[in-house]
Amino acid sequence: MALTGLDIFKLLPKTNCKKCGMPTCLAFAMQLAQKRAKLDDCPSASEEAKEALSAAAAPPMRLVKFGIGDKMVQVGKETVLFRHEEKFYNPTAVAVSISDKLSGDALQKRIESINALQFERVGLKIGARAIAVINDSGEVEAFASTAVAVKKSSNLALILCSDMPESIAAALAKTAEAKPLIASANADTFEAMAKIAKENNCPLVAKAKSIDDLADLTEKIKSQGLEDIVLSFEGLTLADQLRDFTKMRVLSLKKVFRPLGDPTLSVVQEGDSDQQTAAATSLICKYCGIVIVDTIEPYAFLPMLTAAMNIYSDPQKPIQVEPKLYEIGEPDENSPVMFTTNFSLTYYTVESDVEAARVPAYILVVDTEGTSVLTAYSGDKLNEKVVADAMAKNDIRNKVKHQKLIIPGYVAVMSGKLEEALGWEVMVGPRESSTLPKYLQEVWK
Ligand code: SF4
Repeated sequence: MALTGLDIFKLLPKTNCKKCGMPTCLAFAMQLAQKRAKLDDCPSASEEAKEALSAAAAPPMRLVKFGIGDKMVQVGKETVLFRHEEKFYNPTAVAVSISDKLSGDALQKRIESINALQFERVGLKIGARAIAVINDSGEVEAFASTAVAVKKSSNLALILCSDMPESIAAALAKTAEAKPLIASANADTFEAMAKIAKENNCPLVAKAKSIDDLADLTEKIKSQGLEDIVLSFEGLTLADQLRDFTKMRVLSLKKVFRPLGDPTLSVVQEGDSDQQTAAATSLICKYCGIVIVDTIEPYAFLPMLTAAMNIYSDPQKPIQVEPKLYEIGEPDENSPVMFTTNFSLTYYTVESDVEAARVPAYILVVDTEGTSVLTAYSGDKLNEKVVADAMAKNDIRNKVKHQKLIIPGYVAVMSGKLEEALGWEVMVGPRESSTLPKYLQEVWK
């Protein structure tokens, strides 16, 4: 919890010596509370004051990183309970499990299937972000060799899942440079696991059966000198996990309860692909930083990624595409010209429907600050001047010779003013983009 000016004042020497440039210690404390001064400016500040102030300045939830390069995963450092309060920062990483009972072709095939779980949605790339090797065999060597095979054939981040410190140590001996996440330490193994994690500079998952036990365990791990911790439960139902992840979020953000101020992880291995999608998506919503699933079905995977993408998008800033002229196929001087807004979802819906029509076309994307057609029109972000300016900027008059513009059916009311502004014939297109193929094939021609 942030310290008030009076809290800080109690920690200062109270000599009013003025060496900090302030007339009194109280005035300096007020400046510190408003982050307008640094404690270093007081040469007489005690170690106790320095410790208390640096602890108060730390974010309520720690940022944890694992993996390397452009596949590094960052989770945590969230600041709010609800995205509309500000935004969520570090999207849930969806990982896929690989059992160390797999070997040979079966192992290779699964790694390749996981690598292929990459998609493009509304212009953004999303996909599996980590592979979790599970020590199902209970054997040290099998676990280590599976981890090595995964590291060799995938550049996704690595999660090493075993309750046996000796298995983790053996796998890390050959994969530590990939900076894996170690999962997991419990009340019996935390000393050995924390030592291994610290030696290899890797974050560690702490696993317990209740919030109280978890808070106790993280304190013990921190006392071993390890700070990068991820929180997980064992033996809890999905409903109980959702309840307790929510409680932990409240405790860490609202009460600044440091023992629970870390990102979270859950393993979803039960049920068919559909059930895993439902469970994982619920966990993404409340408030899981890493979810490990077993399914590799693209149809089951995409909804989880879509949920994470949507929840972690900035609610104040709609996802936008660049306002410009897009060519679909190889349009020529006889091709249709239509416009839409730069709200990503709108543009990509229109684009895919125009592609489906197999009619080469120009789509003029006008800048409406990422709002959809009707929203933009009702907010006066879409009017005849905006469209005319975009037409001129993109030199459309010199690209086609027909002087016809197709407009979204929802803004048919713009027709008259647009015709006046452009001197072109305005054709009112369909309201729903899904009927664009029919329109282009039958009405345009
Ligand atoms: Fe107080 Fe320190 Fe400023 Fe002196 S330098 S007035 S002790 S806050």
